[in-house]
Amino acid sequence: MLTLTDIQNNIEYRISLVPMADAFKLLEQGQVFYDFTKITAAYTCPTWGVLRYGKHLSDLPLSTGGRSLAIECGSACHDFFAAVRLWTLLERYSNGTSEHALVNAHAIKLFGKDRWESMLSIPQDSDRVNNCQLFALDALHTSGYYDDPSDRKRTLSNMETACISYADRYLAADLPVLVRGNLIGVEIPFVLKVERIATVNKAQLTEWHALATAYYCGRIDGIHDYGGSAMVGENKTAASLSSAWRTSFAISHQITGYTIAGTCLLREEVSNAQVMGVQIPLPRDAFNGIVFHPETRTESDRLRWAEWFFGGIETYEGYMDRPTEAPRYSHSCNRYFSACQFIPFCSLTREEQTDALTSMRHDEWSPLDHLKKKAVEE
Ligand code: SF4
Repeated sequence: MLTLTDIQNNIEYRISLVPMADAFKLLEQGQVFYDFTKITAAYTCPTWGVLRYGKHLSDLPLSTGGRSLAIECGSACHDFFAAVRLWTLLERYSNGTSEHALVNAHAIKLFGKDRWESMLSIPQDSDRVNNCQLFALDALHTSGYYDDPSDRKRTLSNMETACISYADRYLAADLPVLVRGNLIGVEIPFVLKVERIATVNKAQLTEWHALATAYYCGRIDGIHDYGGSAMVGENKTAASLSSAWRTSFAISHQITGYTIAGTCLLREEVSNAQVMGVQIPLPRDAFNGIVFHPETRTESDRLRWAEWFFGGIETYEGYMDRPTEAPRYSHSCNRYFSACQFIPFCSLTREEQTDALTSMRHDEWSPLDHLKKKAVEE
């Protein structure tokens, strides 16, 4: 268990890992899990957060196919990144070893048997980098992504070129994937139980009072061995990898959350992360299109993370039953230079909004989705 102490406010946070089997039971019982996207949405705009991630509603017109290409493109590229990591493990562990069997089982969990077998069937008769690239490209090609005529940047061809450069850079970086016991450091799901506790010191006898308990879930792209200590790897696809992009990770709660999860998973301090950025499409100088950016987190960052986590939850708990009363943060209506899908909804009166809520589509996503699907299949 990880304990964070806020001495000034007499608050203690206790964070522990929930075994996946227990997590699924909690989900079945209706326990709400929060993830980085969901908490961030509450701070971006409470109305947006509650509608999209609290109630899982979408108002994207079906005439556009309801596609969110940034998410689809990122997800397909993440298949490639995971395949690269797995390829290095196949290279490390020869067939017949227990580690090889573990890697194989983990890969089937991630990709399914057919896709994994397809990757394994890719000829490996070229040099190391090329073999890895060809292997992982199969993961990209079987991801289900297809071009949208309205988006000339996120094309499969641009994604292929960027991913090929990434594999080259990744292999040169020499960041071995961590394998410890049954843990394979590729696409690791986690669920954390986070407790907020008030500490009261009465005549030197400390009492603890539970204030809140909540669950945080996510998936770490990679855990690596960094000179003998564990380091989190976070892959990002972006339209630009400027210095502003790098700076955005300086205090990113997403990265902090992964270092906390890594610490709980491994039961050892994990404070370092490597953000691995891929620009799509690659710039003219391909070298600038792949950026590996290191980050470190401290005790203070973790405490701020816990405050951010419970602060976001307050928004959901406050407005889930009355979404039309949630604040409208109009400065977010054009975030990332595109119009929020809920502008038509937000333009209505409260009475009209109550009607409109019933006609929206239900569209739910969670970082644990692929595991839930797997659990159902089994
Ligand atoms: S349209 Fe603006 S106010 Fe409404 S949910 Fe979107 S960001 Fe919030």
